[in-house]
Amino acid sequence: MKKILALHTGGTISMHEDASGKVVPDVENPITKAQFALPDDVELTSEDIFNLPSPHVTPEHMLLLKNRIEKAVREEDFFGVVITHGTDTLEETAFFLDTTVMDLCPIVLTGAMRSSNELGSDGLYNYLSAIRVASCDDSFGKGVVVVMNDEVHSARFVTKTHTTNVATFRTPTHGPIGLITKHKVMYFNKLLEHSKAKIEKVDSKIPIIKAYAGMDSTTFEVLSHMNIDGLVVEALGSGNLPPYTLEGLQKVIDKDIPIVVVSRCFNGVAEPVYAYEGGGVNLEKMGLIFANGINSQKARLKLLIALNAGMSGIEIDEFIAE
Ligand code: ASP
Repeated sequence: MKKILALHTGGTISMHEDASGKVVPDVENPITKAQFALPDDVELTSEDIFNLPSPHVTPEHMLLLKNRIEKAVREEDFFGVVITHGTDTLEETAFFLDTTVMDLCPIVLTGAMRSSNELGSDGLYNYLSAIRVASCDDSFGKGVVVVMNDEVHSARFVTKTHTTNVATFRTPTHGPIGLITKHKVMYFNKLLEHSKAKIEKVDSKIPIIKAYAGMDSTTFEVLSHMNIDGLVVEALGSGNLPPYTLEGLQKVIDKDIPIVVVSRCFNGVAEPVYAYEGGGVNLEKMGLIFANGINSQKARLKLLIALNAGMSGIEIDEFIAE
């Protein structure tokens, strides 16, 4: 038998719709009460580790999950772990675990777009799919994955793309790494290896700001007076900023904190390409670090992990750019 640990954290998958049509949290998790047939070779243990809508989830909760998973694999002989989670920040928890959990075991996150008693509720179906993926031998060495709507996505690039559609989780640029069919779990991509970092705390303050046409220095000026440990900038296109931002940006650079550039485009990779004023080539010369194809919310977590792992200088640059 394969021992699978299900860690429930809350989200729509654990909620129901009330008589007025509002979706509200349940005291008792409907997913743990549900009756359904498990795969023959699975022995399931369920724990409600916390019960929160995912906008309430913080890096401290992610750290709690990391520690619980490492204990489950090292001391309790679990084969794989399933985490049920609200979809709003699910990609962030998945990315955090993918970058910090050292043990190699299938770790699968899932959620639902429709709560437990809504017509066409997808929670139980996604939960069973996630259990199938977590108990599949081929899921070893795939990193942390997100399973929703019959698809398997790598935690590194997956993102929530739709406010309500059950097919909300997509992997722009690369696509899913696997499919769940009626009879099997099929993978058609290998994991791109990437570094992990050991952390025991998640203390840093790292805001994200987004660039737009006509943006000036105001936001950077304000940030230069704040007590922050790093900054992520969602720049334009391949990684450019309006020239009117540069005076303020320089004041943030003078604080000697790491500043990471990603693109506000949801496809592709930000790179220093343009050498005009505010272009990526100049931003790199000013000391900004280009993240490799991840979105701003993930770049923020990556920088937070780097700082809390005690990295500095070139170590941060290499970890972020990888
Ligand atoms: N707002 C909900 C949450 O993230 C959405 C969901 O779970 O699908 O908790």
